[in-house]
Amino acid sequence: MKVLETADAMRAWSEEQRRADKSIGFVPTMGALHEGHASLMRAAAKGNDIAIASIFVNPTQFAPHEDFDKYPRTWDADLKICEDCGVVAIYAPRKDAIYPPGYATYVNVEGLSEGLCGVTRPIFFRGVATVVTKLFNAVHPHRAYFGQKDAQQCAVIRRMTLDLEFGIEIVILPTVREADGLAMSSRNRYLSAEERTRALCLSRSLFGAEQMLRDGVRDAKSIVDFVRDGMAEVQIDYVELVDADTMQPVEHIEKPSVLAVAAFVGPARLIDNVVLNPK
Ligand code: AMP
Repeated sequence: MKVLETADAMRAWSEEQRRADKSIGFVPTMGALHEGHASLMRAAAKGNDIAIASIFVNPTQFAPHEDFDKYPRTWDADLKICEDCGVVAIYAPRKDAIYPPGYATYVNVEGLSEGLCGVTRPIFFRGVATVVTKLFNAVHPHRAYFGQKDAQQCAVIRRMTLDLEFGIEIVILPTVREADGLAMSSRNRYLSAEERTRALCLSRSLFGAEQMLRDGVRDAKSIVDFVRDGMAEVQIDYVELVDADTMQPVEHIEKPSVLAVAAFVGPARLIDNVVLNPK
């Protein structure tokens, strides 16, 4: 497995693959890899001639009070997971390679970045859109793989890819969960046993909402109230039912809509969602 540390080296290697007519699947990550990331990497390896992953903890998507410094870094274990999933190259730039002194350019996806997570994390999606743009430019993939777990991020990346005409196919794959329902996240490592048990109320409430939908409930308020009640034991950031493309609130479910939640549990801020499909 190759490890490339600069955009120039990454681009040169990637262009060599393209000249040999190889299709490239790309999975951007911040490392601390788990089965959620692995599912994306396996899909990238299966759906393309070559799979590339990036590992970069992106400083511009963290506010000063957030967990950039203590974000888990598990390089050796990450390499093994990448290799086992069929990744052949890792792009792992250093911070200064992405943001050299004097760096001044940011990508802002308006509207979509402002609600939900954008309220508590106002600079988050600007950081994500900027770094993904730079990763796309270095890796130049045919397809890029993202997890539904970060539903708003998926909408931002899809919009940005369309608006900036990257010509990259964006593939979204389902959220991978622990056996008890907890959505896998690098930040689950922050939870004590007691906090982890309380965190289960996120997925439990979302699954309850899916049952309501199956029982014929279609109005957002009943569903959101139910989920809020189910999450009483954690500090709710938001519970919202939104359109999957625009991230705007929906009042009545007429087409597949995203029921998204965020909550603070001990030191962690966790997010989760389900797609409610009325058909
Ligand atoms: P991160 O390393 O947290 O930036 O995540 C990198 C990619 O993995 C993003 O596209 C995430 O949506 C995806 N991802 C993270 N957790 C999961 C999960 N539990 N299931 C599926 N995809 C995930």
